[in-house]
Amino acid sequence: MAHFRLQNVEDFYEIGEVLGSGHFGQVRELTEQSSGTLWAGKFLKLQRSASSRLGVERRSVEREVEILQALPHAHIMALHDVFDSRAEIVLVVELISGGELFDFIAEKENLMENEAIGFLKQILSGVAFMHSKQIAHFDLKPENIMLSDKSAELPEIKIIDFGLAQRFTPGEEYRSLCGTPQYIAPEVVNYEPLTVASDMWSMGVITYILLSGMSPFQGDSDEETLRNIVDMKYEFEDQYFSATSDMAKDFIQKLLIKDQSERMTAEECLMHPWIKPLTHRQAASRSRSSINMKNFKKFNARRKWRMSYNMVWVCNRLCRLQLLCKQAQEDEELRSCESDQEDIAIKPASLIRRRLSSNS
Ligand code: AMP
Repeated sequence: MAHFRLQNVEDFYEIGEVLGSGHFGQVRELTEQSSGTLWAGKFLKLQRSASSRLGVERRSVEREVEILQALPHAHIMALHDVFDSRAEIVLVVELISGGELFDFIAEKENLMENEAIGFLKQILSGVAFMHSKQIAHFDLKPENIMLSDKSAELPEIKIIDFGLAQRFTPGEEYRSLCGTPQYIAPEVVNYEPLTVASDMWSMGVITYILLSGMSPFQGDSDEETLRNIVDMKYEFEDQYFSATSDMAKDFIQKLLIKDQSERMTAEECLMHPWIKPLTHRQAASRSRSSINMKNFKKFNARRKWRMSYNMVWVCNRLCRLQLLCKQAQEDEELRSCESDQEDIAIKPASLIRRRLSSNS
């Protein structure tokens, strides 16, 4: 179990700019005072009481910390330190400054399959390592796949956000309805017992999008998307997959399988001929086939627009809730409203977590 330091993060690190926002708080740049080293700090607001629906449970943060500690791997965000105050826990993690993989790809003029495979291989090796430790991420999606340094020849992948991750205990069943609609597996939608194979479904969806710029199960609403997932309604439409190799389609088909035990594992993916060609013909086919860049750029622009739209929606809602809270305070001098306001600032983000990046 990680050592939670009962000290103030500010006494050891300078707190810098906001790098991003998660469901229970912000991620900010940190500078270690003793060495000048840059880190990222994930500030997580804690639930005030067991009955509170606001903030994150201490137990969940402890689980995220335990999981990150169990996963020292080149393609998984590393944990450096943990600070614990009564209201908040700060995870000091490796700073990942290259942005999201999808944004990096969207800036390119074109990309051949073998270049995309260079990134997929890294993601798969991180996922295979996680799964070898009986840990599932349960929220693999483009927002959680970042790059450490964009300027490197082959930028390094870093998988982030282990807020929904779980370590499986032999003999215990685990079910959950959490995740992001576009990327979740049928067993999640059906509230069935889950395994690490649910991550492999998400890998299938991510690969499908990467190659075509289309989201395989996307409906006009979350409900329709979830129905499409359960009904396994997807196809490789010619207009989007004309430049895609048959091996790539085979790879996806072996991941988008309803039966979890039939789905390829991360280790099997790494041995699939699309990822690891056995013949010259297979290798040549990958370097002849390209990703549908025009459509991918459109997908990414919609995804980013949807994310910022959601952020604006959260901000507006926060303002409204804070105004309401102020009003209530004036009317009734609400007990502990001040700390509730702090909590309210967290709640809407947690409510929309499952919606971020959906409908894009
Ligand atoms: P999370 O709560 O882990 O989903 O993080 C929220 C957002 O903060 C992410 O979408 C990233 O944009 C950003 N972020 C998270 N971790 C890091 C990191 N280690 N380095 C830089 N930015 C990060």
